[in-house]
Amino acid sequence: MASREKSMAEKILIVEDEAALVTLLRYNLEREGFEVSEAGDGEEALLRAEETKPDLIVLDWMLPVMSGIEVCRRLRRKPDSRAVPIIMLTARGEEADKVRGLQGGADDYVTKPFSPVELIARIRALLRRARPDRQVETLIFADLSMDLTAHRVRRDGRAIHLGPTEFRLLHYLLRNPRRVFSREQLLDAVWGHDVYVEARTVDVHIRRLRKALNGDGDADLIRTVRAAGYALDQSSAA
Ligand code: CA
Repeated sequence: MASREKSMAEKILIVEDEAALVTLLRYNLEREGFEVSEAGDGEEALLRAEETKPDLIVLDWMLPVMSGIEVCRRLRRKPDSRAVPIIMLTARGEEADKVRGLQGGADDYVTKPFSPVELIARIRALLRRARPDRQVETLIFADLSMDLTAHRVRRDGRAIHLGPTEFRLLHYLLRNPRRVFSREQLLDAVWGHDVYVEARTVDVHIRRLRKALNGDGDADLIRTVRAAGYALDQSSAA
């Protein structure tokens, strides 16, 4: 579980040519659990952004080769980075510059000198705003992931093929991990109120889902609770 959470850390790209500030930001962001990459000038920033697909970019205004404003405009023109949240850093505190920065496509603006605590608060606020859609698109439990946009399920990287009912069943369980549902609750949620299906049908589809999910040596992710129902859980394989 720990390694899974680590690989899901949100990625921040720092674009800044002052090495001391980069070191300070990297230290503080990593301590907060972010994965940090860096670029020292505008061109490198565009390359890194393409390579690392950051969840957010901290972008200095005054950069060698290409200004932060120009980097921002270019990022906004690329489909991959069109929507990535950008916080501009600048020594200029003037209102006109702030307006230019925001018009150039930045989402927020922090004036130097600033405290890392303040910047991290802004980063968290922007990520919260950007996150809702992202969370809805992929559901994850242990080594299992469901991509709702592509309608794909993977376990530990391996593609899992599910029938439509098993897909809906797993989708429902993934939305409520560890919660135990009775057969009746699952019938209502997955098959709908108006359809008459026997409770035993749930057992049949749970069995199919289990078979599809669990490969050789995999832990069983579905827990059977005697006389109660089923839950998506990390029960012991034994
Ligand atoms: Ca600078």
